[in-house]
Amino acid sequence: MRKRRVAILGSTGSIGRSTIDVVRRLGDRFEVHALAARVSSRRLTGQARRLRPARIVTTDRRACQRARKALGREFSVEWGLEPLIDIARSPKVDILVMAMSGTVGLLPVVAALEKGKRVAIATKEILVAYGQRVMALAGRHGGEVLPVDSELAAIHQCLRSGNSKEVKRVVLTASGGPFRDRKIPARATVRQVLDHPTWQMGRKITVDSATLMNKGLEAIETSRLFGLDPHQVEAVVHPQSIVHSFVEFADGSVIAQLSDPDMRLPIQYALCYPDRLPSPIRPLNLLKTGSLDFAPIDTKRFPCYDLARSALRSGPQATCALNAANERAVRAFLAGRIVFHDIPAIIRTTLKVQSSGGPKNPTIAKLMDIESSALSTAEALVNAAGGN
Ligand code: MG
Repeated sequence: MRKRRVAILGSTGSIGRSTIDVVRRLGDRFEVHALAARVSSRRLTGQARRLRPARIVTTDRRACQRARKALGREFSVEWGLEPLIDIARSPKVDILVMAMSGTVGLLPVVAALEKGKRVAIATKEILVAYGQRVMALAGRHGGEVLPVDSELAAIHQCLRSGNSKEVKRVVLTASGGPFRDRKIPARATVRQVLDHPTWQMGRKITVDSATLMNKGLEAIETSRLFGLDPHQVEAVVHPQSIVHSFVEFADGSVIAQLSDPDMRLPIQYALCYPDRLPSPIRPLNLLKTGSLDFAPIDTKRFPCYDLARSALRSGPQATCALNAANERAVRAFLAGRIVFHDIPAIIRTTLKVQSSGGPKNPTIAKLMDIESSALSTAEALVNAAGGN
């Protein structure tokens, strides 16, 4: 059997590193053709030496210069977005793993789907802001979008138990983040927010988990990816992160997916689907786990979840604006420019300023306009809130 060639865009982040681990363990099935990262040139050069991919790309010019210097003439390091699109399109790549934070990876995803490829997507911003169009492209060209996310991979698996008409509702589970059981400090610090109880993740998604925006983004993704109506998607808090989500069917049967929290499982699922292969994850021992708890989301304490739900009901323009406002607000929080409570306020006002409604199925170009205009609005609000 010919090995399937994988391009990992975002190879130095936590998903990228776990993907490399999965691919190396399944070395008889997969090989790494390309690696790309934004700025972590040291990690990237280490990965390049170990895996010897045909192509290495950074999206940051200075990181590219550093990587070239470190790797010498043996490797060629490319720079910019164009090489990423070229890799996504290349006949030498079978699977594109998209794990770069933000919407910078939109065009490579589009290019891969236009060639009918499989895209294993960890970047939820792309599906939240452009999901409807991305899924339509996949449908038109025979491409596949497989989620690299514990909850969405769980839903993907549960949905194999019935057909789409038989689905009554989908319930996402949320760990609840660091403020699940304690008061959110008025001036919660970056450090307090980044202290996630069950998952080790990148900084942006960890803040999204603390505000529960992460669950709102996943509700939007779920609706886009699986073609579900907003009212069919719900979420509950489940502190143990063992039940990764569940689906209720028309006959009242509820199918759930359970495992220890380990991102290598959804990554392997997205690469290998429809096959299931042995994996290194710890076998689930429910006797040791003890109880599995569930609770409703407290939307008063976590207004971001409701903001996302209401954007989902409004339509694709609103979800695109929400994503942009959230990205900008979270970045400002991480940079110490605003406080934690400013995040939902900035998103709410951005959504009010951006006209909601609009066409039901806006083009990618139209959505890009909305994204950049929402980014400017949110930036102005950041300046107003933080004073600089
Ligand atoms: Mg998740």
